[in-house]
Order: sequence, then structure tokens, then C-alpha cells
Amino acid sequence: MADKTIPYKIYLSEDELPKNYYNMRADMKVKPAPLLNPGTHEPMTAEELEPVFCEELVQQELNDDDRLIPIPEEIQDFYKMYRPAPLVRAYCLEEKLQTPAKIYYKYEGNNTSGSHKLNSAIAQAYYAKKQGLKGVTTETGAGQWGTALSMACSYFDLDCQVYMVKVSYEQKIFRREVMRTYGASVTPSPSDTTNVGRQILAEHPGTTGSLGCAISEAVEAATSQEGYRYVLGSVLSQVLLHQSIIGLETKTAMDKYGITPDVIIGCCGGGSNLGGLIAPFMGEKLRGEKDYQFIAVEPASCPSLTRGQYVYDFCDTGRVCPLAKMYTLGSGFIPSSNHAGGLRYHGASTVISELYDQGYMDAVSYEQTEVFQAAEYFARCEGILPAPESSHAIKGAIEEALKCKETGEEKTILFGLTGTGYFDLTAYQQFNDGTMTDYIPTDEEIAAGLAGVPQFPGNEVK
Ligand SMILES: *Cc1c(COP(=O)(O)O)cnc(C)c1O
Repeated sequence: MADKTIPYKIYLSEDELPKNYYNMRADMKVKPAPLLNPGTHEPMTAEELEPVFCEELVQQELNDDDRLIPIPEEIQDFYKMYRPAPLVRAYCLEEKLQTPAKIYYKYEGNNTSGSHKLNSAIAQAYYAKKQGLKGVTTETGAGQWGTALSMACSYFDLDCQVYMVKVSYEQKIFRREVMRTYGASVTPSPSDTTNVGRQILAEHPGTTGSLGCAISEAVEAATSQEGYRYVLGSVLSQVLLHQSIIGLETKTAMDKYGITPDVIIGCCGGGSNLGGLIAPFMGEKLRGEKDYQFIAVEPASCPSLTRGQYVYDFCDTGRVCPLAKMYTLGSGFIPSSNHAGGLRYHGASTVISELYDQGYMDAVSYEQTEVFQAAEYFARCEGILPAPESSHAIKGAIEEALKCKETGEEKTILFGLTGTGYFDLTAYQQFNDGTMTDYIPTDEEIAAGLAGVPQFPGNEVK
């Protein structure tokens, strides 16, 4: 039995909650590559970004220099309603694994949207309101981001228009209805309400949609309506900035008890929870103060970091967004339809991509059946039914803990538990029925996706 001097849950008082976001880019010697104008291939300026994004968020997006960015009091007040998120010592998991490792997880599922996405949604809605906008448009895949944004918009009395990937719109009716309850309008994508949607429907009749395609529709909807801007729940540097609240709370809680993690693990879709969780720790590593091992975990069926290329690519299928330099599988890459585990974005945040490219972090991928096995194992001992996305991090943490069991090392492992899986029960049903299958894209399929990467000097796919 482990001695249980560290509480099962470490909470912070309201006074201990972060007052500033932490901007990792300020401590990076080599900055993430700038977003480029897809026409001129010149870095995007604030003037070019402001027709699409909220002004203050554009400033944050372009800010590579300020280490701390104050969290406005209105946002701090909203955070107090559902934060701090608990930092949990996984005593039961450790015992069941019989590992000498000490395992902690930061649990972000304690709000109605069920994930960390609310942390950025409330910030983005606040800045939109402050600018005097009528509303915002966005896309959502599985629905967590749309749900979080609809909650944030209703709090600040903003209109919220969500383009939801069609397959999710049809399968994830519960999230759709939560969004509508919070007053959002939800449109299945591709739809015939936008030019780009009609074009995609004509080219791919019967398509069940993709995140990249929904992004294109949401951007068009924002730029074609007066008083609207587009907001995004992941990938962008501003989103990683808002999500730094996860890591800042975690670090304060750990420091209180003198705990130092050796390994920090997060699942990686667009990279926002991972970027947020690791932020203050990565800052110490970047400044040469401390060393940590960071591991990004992604699905084997959508392996942008582990099998993609580090090049400029389109952020969306419709190719209306700026180009971002990132590890990518190509904006036309769509994961196999049997993939149920989320994290389906074709690329990864420019910040995460640059850190990974510089060797500051590692990446691994797992197949969905083994990820769901980890989810089931975790649910049965720690009592939380995890989101499929989060379960990638659980799988990564269990693997590290099992390595410690072999070597006898008493490492401290920290992972991000980004959300709950209550609305992912169709995927759990497949797993329980034994009908869940794995699919790893072939080299040819990866190459086909990468063939869609924009061609210009210096941007060759290898
Ligand atoms: C959206 C989501 C993710 C993946 O997004 P990131 O930007 O990579 O963090 C992970 N877990 C949950 C529960 C999510 O909703």
C-alpha cells in the first residue's frame, strides 16, 4: 500500500487560481512559424486576420513575446464557477497496476460541456462581447467544442452558430440538444447554407463531413454576416494560451505538496489541452531550469505527429483559412470511418509542432481498441468514465507506469484527463459488443493526403 500523505484530490482556493495566462511562445528561442496568407505566402497581418477573428484574439494569436497575459476579471469569475479542476492522485490505478510509479491526473470533465474546451470558449466569447459583436460561428466535430461555446455564448448573451460534422450531428444527438438548450443553432456540415458547403456536397455526394470542411463553412458564415466572427476550439496559439490555466493550476497544486512530475502526458488532437497542461513545465524546460519528459498521444488512425510531415498546410478542407506550418497528414486526409475515438484533426498546433520538431517532446500513437481497453480499466478503478480522446492519455500513462514496474523506477507521471465519455456511448457500445475495429492508414493513404499540401518553394513534402 502506498502511504497516502498526498490527498486523493488536491484543490486550490479561489485566491490560488491563476490571474494570468502563460504564453509558452515567449520562452521559445525559435518561435512557431507564422501563419501565412494562402495567396501571397506572406505572414498574416492583424489587418488580414481581423475580418475573420476577434480583435483581441488576433493580438493574442500574434503575440510571441509577452510571457504573461492578464485574465480579465469577468473570465476569472466564470472560471470560479467550475474551477479549480481537481488534480487527482490515482492511488487505485497505481495499486491495480502494481506499479511503483506515482500517477496524477488533472480532471477537466467537471462542467456541463464535459471537457477542457470551456476554458477557451469563455475567453473567446468574452472578447467577442467586448468588441460589441452580435455573435460567433464555429465548427464542432464530436460536439464538445460546440457545447462549450454555446454555454459561453449564453453567459455573455451572444448568438452562437455551430456547423457540426454531419456524422456527429446524426449520431451525437445528445450533445446537439445540449447546444440547442443553451441557445445555439446547429447545422449539419457540409450543408447547403454556404458556397463552400454546396461545393463539397457536389464534389463528394453522400459525404459524412469532416472537421476541415465544417471549419470552411463556419468561416464563410462569419465573414458573410455583419457583426460576426469565427472562433476555433483548438489548434490556434490563442487557444493554447487560454488552456494554460490547466497547467498553471496543476503546477501550483503540485508545488504546494513538493511534487515534481517526471513524465507529462496528454492526448493530442489539435494540441490545445496538451499545450495547456505542459505550458508552465515546458517553460521551465525552455528556460533551462528543469527537465521533464513530455509525451503527446495520438490515434494510430490519425497520426499527424508520428507519421505526418512538418510543412505549411491548409487548416481546412475548403482552403479558406491561413496556412499553418504544422505536422500534418494533409487537409484532405479523413480518418477511416470506423474511427470512433476523436482526435481526428489532420494537423497539430504550430506551437506543439515546433516543440516536437525541436525535440522538446515525444509522440506515440495507439490503436482505438487498446485505447478503449485502457478507458475501461481506468473507469473500473478510478470511477470516472473517460472521453475516448482522454483515454489516449490514460493509455500512455498506463504504458509508462508498466515500464516503471519493470525497471522499479518510482517515476511521477502526470496526465491530462480532458473529459467525460457520457456522450460517447455509441463508441463504448462498439467496444463492449466486440465490434470495434482498428485501422492504420497505409503509407499510400498518408501520401495521398500529403499530396494536397500546397506546393511552393521551401515547402516540399519529403
Ligand atoms: C477536443 C477534445 C480533445 C482534443 O483537443 P485538443 O485541442 O488536442 O486538446 C481531447 N479531449 C477532449 C475531451 C476533447 O473534447
